[in-house]
Amino acid sequence: MIAKAYSSALIGIDGYVVTVETDMANGIPSFDIVGLPDAAVKEAKERVRAAIRNSGFELPAKKVVINLAPADIKKEGSGYDLAMAAAILTADNKLSQDKVLEYALMGELSLAGELKKINGVLSHSMGASKSGIKKIIVPKDNAYEASLAEGITVYGASSLYEVFMHLSGEKELQPTVTDAKELIKNNMVYDVDFADVKGQPLLKRAFEIAAAGGHNVIVMGSPGSGKSMLAKRLPTILPDMTIEEAIDTTRIHSSAGTLPDDEPIVAVRPFRSPHHTISVPGLLGGGADSRPGEISLANNGVLFLDEFLEFAPKAMEGMRQPLEDGKVTIARASATNTYPCKTMLILATNPCPCGYYGDRRRSCKCSQSAINKYLSKLSGPLLDRIDIQVEASSISYENLSENQGESSHDIKERVMRAREIQRTRFGSDTKLNSDIKTKEEMDKYCTLDKAAENILKQAFQNIGLSVRGYNSILAVSRTIADLDGSESIDIMHITEAISYRRLEGKYWSK
Ligand SMILES: [Zn+2]
Repeated sequence: MIAKAYSSALIGIDGYVVTVETDMANGIPSFDIVGLPDAAVKEAKERVRAAIRNSGFELPAKKVVINLAPADIKKEGSGYDLAMAAAILTADNKLSQDKVLEYALMGELSLAGELKKINGVLSHSMGASKSGIKKIIVPKDNAYEASLAEGITVYGASSLYEVFMHLSGEKELQPTVTDAKELIKNNMVYDVDFADVKGQPLLKRAFEIAAAGGHNVIVMGSPGSGKSMLAKRLPTILPDMTIEEAIDTTRIHSSAGTLPDDEPIVAVRPFRSPHHTISVPGLLGGGADSRPGEISLANNGVLFLDEFLEFAPKAMEGMRQPLEDGKVTIARASATNTYPCKTMLILATNPCPCGYYGDRRRSCKCSQSAINKYLSKLSGPLLDRIDIQVEASSISYENLSENQGESSHDIKERVMRAREIQRTRFGSDTKLNSDIKTKEEMDKYCTLDKAAENILKQAFQNIGLSVRGYNSILAVSRTIADLDGSESIDIMHITEAISYRRLEGKYWSK
């Protein structure tokens, strides 16, 4: 007899319904799985057989063939175990086919028949809901996450036996219900604050502008100047995540297996700071298990790349297109996966190979040619995507004796006001000043008076700006004026914006 159960496969962060078909026939007892399964899926037969037996059922001595359809989607991981077990029990007349087909069934089975947590559950429940399935059974530890999906009732179970009792109507599971808004509110806590950081007023100001207009930043400064300490606090002055943003970011972390055990949702903006020795797939995504990379784990948050010039050139260059598109596409032999990567990029670099060029505490030991060579590793096209360039000063005695800095809460209020102005300007929740790209938009939104225009012209000639650099200054000056609550871009706004482009003339002039 042939029986069916529904399960789900992940492509990128989207779940697609997979039909698990089981044919059970007389013949020499055997167990085969077909339909583009990977190694972990093939191993399911050992787990599923043992789990059925150890849950108190007898596996009939028959020839069992399991087909996962559609065959052109690559099936990965151990999440199909439960649906396979249910299909076998249905083929053996222990469960009703109609009842089983009301559900999507997800979860890995242990040999003892326990249901174990899997990755990507939220995407699976959203995918199932989208295709019209009204109920899903998932491992108990995944139930809260799964229940963030709309239009589907979620049941968490801890064993195959519990699932059997539920599907046979003998003892029903309780549905898990989650209020996403409430869950985000309860988990929206940062454990760091701008008030922790003394000194560095210029750097703090640059980060405030970056947060207000969504601009990328490069920070140059010697080791120990507090670059990473401040970058880590950048998410705390960004607007709260919307439900949509939280759900998208949760799906990425869930499919990568980086969702913390006690948190079913990513409610605060992520901060990712991979080490410079990271592989290209580690940064951009892909690799043997096709995971999302750090650039996607930072989606809707901040990607901080310290000692950026030490990253592999391929990693640096590989980021350009994804940053432009807000998504990264990874082609593999069997499939193409796309992951979102809308992130604020903060690059940090030492000013020279030894790290102490221009530092007041220690002298630099590098030759000018070594410094030039070092800094030239940053390519023009990538630099073009960074609106704000700023130098971190070495922390002096006065800085350390200074009182507490301003709190994230206060800075965030100013950021929110500037964001509100942009919302009105663009009539959009997502478009920011950093997205002003075309000449028409520049002319429309970034008009300068004669005096401001003259200053910009002078700067353009003096510091050897690229056209993109010129546009960056205009966009940043727009954000500075917004923070100032000013409709017009005045001399002081443009002058400050020019100051965030000085490194280009100093180190990377063409
Ligand atoms: Zn040096």
